[in-house]
Amino acid sequence: MVSKTLPFTKQKIEEIAAEYPTPFHVYDEKGILENARKLKEAFGILEGFTEYFAVKALPNPFIMKILKKEGFGADCSSLPELLLAEKVGIVGEGIMFSSNDTPKEEFVKAKELGAIINLDDISHIQYLEEAAGLPDLVCFRYNPGALKEGNTFIGNPEEAKYGFTREQLLEGYRTLAEKGVKRFGIHTMVASNELDPQYFIETARIIFEVIAEISGELGIHFEFANLGGGIGIPYKPDQEPVPYDVIAKGVKEEYDRLIEANGLAPLKIFLECGRVITGPYGYLITSVRHLKHTYKDYVGTDACMANLMRPGVYGAYHHITVLGKENAPTTHKYDVTGSLCENNDKFAIDRMLPDIETGDILAIHDSGAHGHAMGFNYNGKLRSAEILLRNDGSFIQIRRAETVDDYFATLDFGNLKSFE
Ligand SMILES: *Cc1c(COP(=O)(O)O)cnc(C)c1O
Repeated sequence: MVSKTLPFTKQKIEEIAAEYPTPFHVYDEKGILENARKLKEAFGILEGFTEYFAVKALPNPFIMKILKKEGFGADCSSLPELLLAEKVGIVGEGIMFSSNDTPKEEFVKAKELGAIINLDDISHIQYLEEAAGLPDLVCFRYNPGALKEGNTFIGNPEEAKYGFTREQLLEGYRTLAEKGVKRFGIHTMVASNELDPQYFIETARIIFEVIAEISGELGIHFEFANLGGGIGIPYKPDQEPVPYDVIAKGVKEEYDRLIEANGLAPLKIFLECGRVITGPYGYLITSVRHLKHTYKDYVGTDACMANLMRPGVYGAYHHITVLGKENAPTTHKYDVTGSLCENNDKFAIDRMLPDIETGDILAIHDSGAHGHAMGFNYNGKLRSAEILLRNDGSFIQIRRAETVDDYFATLDFGNLKSFE
């Protein structure tokens, strides 16, 4: 069994909590950097490899800046995400704009920034042309339909709302070529939280075959293939991280066989992972407020599903460590809850943990992707702060906690008087 350890001590967390009260998310810069470098090294064997960090996983400019320094781009899918990339200094082809059901103003901004625009539907060729004009470089998102078995999280590709069919790809690239577009890319994303490396090699094979066919039929050259995101992380203690080098080597073999051997090189290989880049390096830190013993034993924390909704919404497993009791025997069975008026506001159900007292501090693991980012204000719950634990052991607040004023910011109480 692989054990899940923490990159900080109880003392360090108490030091942070003295300045920024719990709950908060803490991100481990050292872990993020080491992982980013490992990914770059493994995938570096592939032509022109670039990782575009999927901003939606952890939309914080400090994190994006760390990743930018490692040479990562940004994968954006909305206007605020594009603006965030711009603020961090990620512009031009450092941005991959992979959106769907896209409004006009987002295409306008993406074009203005010089982002690589990835179209989700054939009808968007004309829509983009009318909204912003066609850029030199255009990418299409391919949905392989029945060619590819769905993974459990994203589901069957034929049921997925994303992307072009195979026939639409051919027609779409032909239309682009006729309209004078000179540079072409292709994208697909058919998995989420997938732990099997073969899945990604298989995806590369499918996309390389499509490139070979379409290049042949239309006489166009593809500049890049974006294999999407979806690399999973070991949320559970008995799971193993995905070996990057196995994926990279497998993709390289398919590349040599289908791209190189067919005279279609160079073809740059892109990824747009979010979860695997930051997920394991974030922790939701929360204090135990109440213990309750009824039909079950409950640990009531000062966080709730507004801070981390994956367990409540997906029934997802997030490991929990009680700080200072790392080595204590797990003798008690608890439901670990938040304070929201929803019974699915539980971080863990029937979890074996050490004996817990009020005031104990819990670290809820793997909150670094789709954690704070998915926060919401239902039930008047406020989103927490985000803290970065620096490489040198110091810490900084990279987002403050919301206040009641933030919660009321969209209401005009002045107007209430005229409503008497
Ligand atoms: C969500 C998403 C990603 C990132 O997915 P992860 O599972 O976080 O790696 C990448 N590309 C697109 C288009 C997405 O919607």
